Amino acid sequence: MPELPEVETVRRGLEKKLNNFIIKKVEVCRDSTVAFPKKKEEFIKGLRNSLFYKWDRRGKYLIAKLKEVQNENTQNPLENSQNNGFLVVHLRMTGYFKLIENSTHPCKHTRIRFFDKNNNELRYIDVRSFGQMWWINKSHSPNKIIKGLGSLGPEPFSKDFDANYLKKVISKRTKSIKAILLDQTIVAGIGNIYADESLYSAGISPFREARTIKKSELIKLKESIVTVLKKSIGSGGTTFSDFRDLEGENGNFGLQTNVYRRTGKECRKCGNLIKRQKITGRSTHWCPKCQK
Ligand SMILES: [Zn+2]
Repeated sequence: MPELPEVETVRRGLEKKLNNFIIKKVEVCRDSTVAFPKKKEEFIKGLRNSLFYKWDRRGKYLIAKLKEVQNENTQNPLENSQNNGFLVVHLRMTGYFKLIENSTHPCKHTRIRFFDKNNNELRYIDVRSFGQMWWINKSHSPNKIIKGLGSLGPEPFSKDFDANYLKKVISKRTKSIKAILLDQTIVAGIGNIYADESLYSAGISPFREARTIKKSELIKLKESIVTVLKKSIGSGGTTFSDFRDLEGENGNFGLQTNVYRRTGKECRKCGNLIKRQKITGRSTHWCPKCQK
């Protein structure tokens, strides 16, 4: 499942490659991918003549600001444009985009296709089909329409996310710290891989009851989260997820994990074997000696 670093890598790719992409035609191949508006015809009509103006990310959501272009044949189409709300995308497990020049026949997992006037295609492919898209018109707020988006906790890189904040929100929580890190309302964008890696790097056992973690440990945890995420963004995501970048390439080749999917291998710090066990249904990897 793409987590913050993978979604951020996709965002950067979309922003770079879709500079002048004005949607002329939308084809919905699977209705359930469109989460809003309810009628796919409204989604299709609403997006027509939209320029992808800017791509943002919030947690694991991609948010494109749209401009409706009245006449794209002028020198600066943006001059005659007005806001046209947002296209919001959540890739969930297996969703990814592909930009295709001179559109070809789509594969059977193609869910939504966007075309510009030159028949370039931005294709959304999703094998397991949990991914969703919303077109939010300019009179609505994405945070109100999309519950999961509106309830997100702070971004890990933001000022709001620090040891004081963590202390405050977990001081009474009896859940494990691993479960806390996966809770998107507490901190946005962290999934299974980066929760395990951050806890390893901070030396904290994933099984610890959240409320027992000391302030000094939370300072370290915050730093670990930021470092692990930044490092991964720099290398374009991990090798292990099903994540693909805009060219449809699978993952990347750079990032080495310390515990994730290293069950039975030697810990890089102490040489003990990495263990795996489920916490709230998610495979959790840790070193029992380095993480207390
Ligand atoms: Zn170890």
